[in-house]
Amino acid sequence: MTTETSLAHGRSYLAIPGPSVMPDEVLRAMHRAAPNIYSGALIDMMPGLLADVRRVARTKHHVAMYIGNGHAVWEASLANVVGPGDSVLVPSTGHFGTSWAGMAESLGVTAHVLDFGKRAPMDLERVADTLAADKAHEIKAVLAVHVDTSTSVRNDIAGLRQVLDAADHPALLMVDCIASMGCDAFEMDAWGVDVAMTACQKGLMVPPGVGFVFFNDRAAARRAEMARVSSYWDWTPRAHADSFWQYHCGTAPTQHMYGLRTALDMIHAEGIENVWHRHEVLAEAIWVACEAWGKTGPFELNIIERAHRSRAVTALRLQAPYATALREWTQSRIGLTLGIGLGMVASDDPNWHGFFRLGHMGHVNGQMIMGLLGGMQAGLRALDIPHGEGALDAAAEVIARG
Ligand SMILES: *Cc1c(COP(=O)(O)O)cnc(C)c1O
Repeated sequence: MTTETSLAHGRSYLAIPGPSVMPDEVLRAMHRAAPNIYSGALIDMMPGLLADVRRVARTKHHVAMYIGNGHAVWEASLANVVGPGDSVLVPSTGHFGTSWAGMAESLGVTAHVLDFGKRAPMDLERVADTLAADKAHEIKAVLAVHVDTSTSVRNDIAGLRQVLDAADHPALLMVDCIASMGCDAFEMDAWGVDVAMTACQKGLMVPPGVGFVFFNDRAAARRAEMARVSSYWDWTPRAHADSFWQYHCGTAPTQHMYGLRTALDMIHAEGIENVWHRHEVLAEAIWVACEAWGKTGPFELNIIERAHRSRAVTALRLQAPYATALREWTQSRIGLTLGIGLGMVASDDPNWHGFFRLGHMGHVNGQMIMGLLGGMQAGLRALDIPHGEGALDAAAEVIARG
């Protein structure tokens, strides 16, 4: 390919499931000289930041902020409520459930994994049976992933709460909302979630670097019973800091705080329910396009039933080596980066090249999604990948209806 034939010059578009597209407003807010950490705006900002991120999680309870990514808040959340010798139940619907279970194991916790495969949500009846069998209440927490970013399945968290209540089981309900928060509707308090966590680089639209653990009084009571919690991971001083340094157990993530302030302002100016609706419509535009492409040929959505699909990420199947070929074409020819498949097959398996994902989380709008789909359509044509017709019209119809 020569430079002349490339249509990649122009603004690039990273359509992967995190990090997501960063708004210019967020980047501008971060671009400043190192602020004073002893007094002034940065310190005054902290209570408002925590209040406004709680509004995104729809909780009136507590929140602790951590410098770190999603893996950091996985560990932070576990470290406050379980320890060596404890057991947790992990109904897993993809790579992230299994990985979180692995992290629990690495902390000396026994993780009972119920594996629901890679194309289905958790089966709540099987979860109910497992909880009913745990008469001694050895399971201290149920670890659920709201949206598993590898499979793009969206799990029924309110339903999982009902299962715990029906079994009269005291295990904490802990939910990974790293992919979903600020994209797919999530209601921490109304759904009875005890601990939820997210990181800033997906629906929150801030470069990777900070995460949040939300916890209610039941979870705080469990924390109080713990024999020990590392002073770094302990959520108590972070959530109820007496001095500024305690919010972060050390130096504050200065630039991130400004970026987050701006991102939260954008989210609340739009309204969180409108944010959810925007993701819903844009996801539907993607679904109808993908369904049209799949009418003939190998293109397939990983999650067949719409009710079980995330509004933030879409996992796709496109017979090896087409998926990799399409990704490479859009990246090099038109400046559009699509996500790699994750956790479907081993990376040295030739079939690895038959999976890819689209991120549509955070700062995305109608014209970007039409551009994403139009770019994919061009790639399918350029590479002679068999596909059904009418994808872009179908997507346009959804966008037109709003
Ligand atoms: C992205 C993601 C993670 C991991 O986050 P990192 O920031 O990469 O550590 C965990 N769970 C889910 C559901 C995710 O989408």
